[in-house]
Amino acid sequence: MDCLFCKIFQGQIPSKKAYEDENVFAFHDIAPMAKTHILFIHKKHTANVNGLSTIHVGQVYAAIKNFTAGTELEKEGFRVVTNTGAHAGQTVFHAHFHVLGGEKLKGFGA
Ligand code: 5GP
Ligand code: ZN
Repeated sequence: MDCLFCKIFQGQIPSKKAYEDENVFAFHDIAPMAKTHILFIHKKHTANVNGLSTIHVGQVYAAIKNFTAGTELEKEGFRVVTNTGAHAGQTVFHAHFHVLGGEKLKGFGA
């Protein structure tokens, strides 16, 4: 499978790991859009979020909840973004969830 994010979670391409469990892997974005910018992916390859079952989406959100619990991110707030397809500007076609925070984020449309 010639997929950048599959290669990252399999360790074939280096990344700065932030979190891992049986189903989910998370790593720091190479071009951060906020002080904290982490990408959460399910280990099952699908091109976008609509390819993930509700169980898989739940597993990703459980990982985000576990990762943020008790941290500054939970205390001060964070944003989860999933770009899907051309209009959203998706560039990597392995479903992923951006977790952004660590500073006050701009509002939508700003
Ligand atoms: P998208 O635009 O598809 O929603 O998000 C893809 C994200 O993957 C971008 O924020 C981009 O900076 C990040 N990215 C692309 N290639 C790499 C890489 O090789 N390593 C890491 N850590 N992030 C990457
Ligand atoms: Zn993949």
